[in-house]
Amino acid sequence: MSLPKKISKEKDGKKIDAPVKKGPAPIGLVRGMKDILPSEQPLWDLMRDKARELSSAYGFERIDTPVLEETALFVRGVGKLTDIVEKELYSFETEGGERLSLRPEMTAPVVRAYIHHGMLNLPQPVKVWYIAPMFRHDRPQHGRYRQFWGFGCEVLGEENPVVDAQLAFLGWLFMKELGIETTVRINSIGTPESRANYKNALVTYFRSKRSKLSDEDKKRLLKNPLRILDSKDPAAQEMKTEAPQIVDWINEDSKAHFMRVLEFLDELGVPYQMDPYLVRGLDYYSRTVFEFYANSSTKELAQSALGGGGRYDGLAETLGGRPTPAAGFSLGLDRIFLHLKDMDLPVPEQTVDVFVAQLGDQGRKKAIAIFEELRKSGIKATEAFSKDAIKVQIEMANRRKVKFAVIVGQKEVLDGTAVLRDMDSGTQEIVDARKIVHEIQKKLGKIV
Ligand code: AMP
Repeated sequence: MSLPKKISKEKDGKKIDAPVKKGPAPIGLVRGMKDILPSEQPLWDLMRDKARELSSAYGFERIDTPVLEETALFVRGVGKLTDIVEKELYSFETEGGERLSLRPEMTAPVVRAYIHHGMLNLPQPVKVWYIAPMFRHDRPQHGRYRQFWGFGCEVLGEENPVVDAQLAFLGWLFMKELGIETTVRINSIGTPESRANYKNALVTYFRSKRSKLSDEDKKRLLKNPLRILDSKDPAAQEMKTEAPQIVDWINEDSKAHFMRVLEFLDELGVPYQMDPYLVRGLDYYSRTVFEFYANSSTKELAQSALGGGGRYDGLAETLGGRPTPAAGFSLGLDRIFLHLKDMDLPVPEQTVDVFVAQLGDQGRKKAIAIFEELRKSGIKATEAFSKDAIKVQIEMANRRKVKFAVIVGQKEVLDGTAVLRDMDSGTQEIVDARKIVHEIQKKLGKIV
C-alpha cells in the first residue's frame, strides 16, 4: 500500500492539504497527567521535607502501599455509589481474571495493610504517614489532575476526640509552616444509623423541590442524596441553605465527641468554621469530618479544598477486619504546590564548592577519580566530563558559583599533581594529587 503524499486537514471549515510530516508523531502527555520538572522540584522538596519533619515529630511512621489494589477494596471501602468509584476509578481486569484498580485514595489501602499485617496486635494506636500518587479519572482542570500526590497521616485503633483534633491541627500546621494560612471547615456526620435517618429527611426536603434540581442532582437524589450538598449547581446551593442539618440527627454520643474535638481545636489554636453541610464524598466517614481551605486564593482554586479528612470508625470492619476506630487526613500536594508557586518564595540555590575540570583523555580519567574522592569525603563537587575545552568548563564553574576548580591535564597526570584554582581571586597553585581532598577540606574550613 502506498502512503498519500499529502493529508487533508480542516481549517475554518475548508479542506486544506498539509504535507505529510517525516517520522513518527511525538507521543504526548496522557490527558490530565503532569510532569514535575527539575525546576519545580525545590518547591516539592519543601513539601516533602516538611511532611517528613512534622510526621516524625508527631510520632508517625512512614508507610508505602502498592499503586494497584483489588477493585473490591474501593467498592467496599469508599462506596459503590460515590463519584470516586462510580466514575473516576482506573480499573482493569488482568489476564488471570483479577479485577484491579489504581488507588484513588490512600485510607482504604492503609486500613487494608493494617488488617493484612495484623497491626492490631501492635501497641495501639498505630500512627502512619505517606506521600503517594493517586489516580482519579476526573475532569481535568486547574488543580485537578488524573494523577495527583497526597500527603496524609492516619491514626488507627483510637477513638479519643483528641486524635481528630490533632490530625486537623497537623494538616493545618503543615500548610502554615509552608506559609499558607488555611481555615478548617468541620462537621460531624454521626454514625451510619443516624446518617440513614438524615438521608431520609434530606430526600423528603429535596423531593419537594425536585423540579428545580439539575439532572445530575436528580440522579443524586435517588442514589446518594448527601452529594447534593456538594453540588456546584446554583439552584441546589440555594436550596441547601434551608435544608435539614445533620447535626440535628446525630446521637448524643456523637455530639459529645464532636464538642470535645472542637474544645481541643480551641486549645490548639486552629482556626475553624463549623460547616453544617460538609459531608465529604466517601462512604467510610463517621463522626468528625473536615476540610482545609486557603484563606486567600486565586479565583480558580478558591472552591477547591487543599485537603480533607475525618474519622472512619467502621472502615476496618467493612474490609473484613476487627472493629477499629480510626481517623486521618490527606492533603493535595499538587494544589499546595500551586499556592507555593504563587507566593514567589526564594528558593535556596543548590550550592556546590568545587568544579572538577579536565583536559585530554588521561586528564579525564584522573578527574573522574578525584571527583569520586571529593564526593566520598562529603565535599559538594560538580563536573562536565563530556566537555573538552577548558575555557567552556571554567565558564561553567563560574556560572555554578563554585569556590574552587580542580584542573587536571596531561602534564598534571604525568607529575601526579592537580591545579587548584581559587575562583574568586583567580590565583592557582599546583597541589599533589593525593593531597587535593585534604587541601580543599582545609580551604573550606572543614578541617584545621
Ligand atoms: P478527597 O479525599 O477526595 O477530599 O481528596 C483529598 C485531597 O486531595 C483534596 O482536598 C485535594 O486537595 C486533593 N485532590 C483530590 N482529587 C484531586 C485531583 N483530581 N487533582 C489534584 N488534587 C486532588
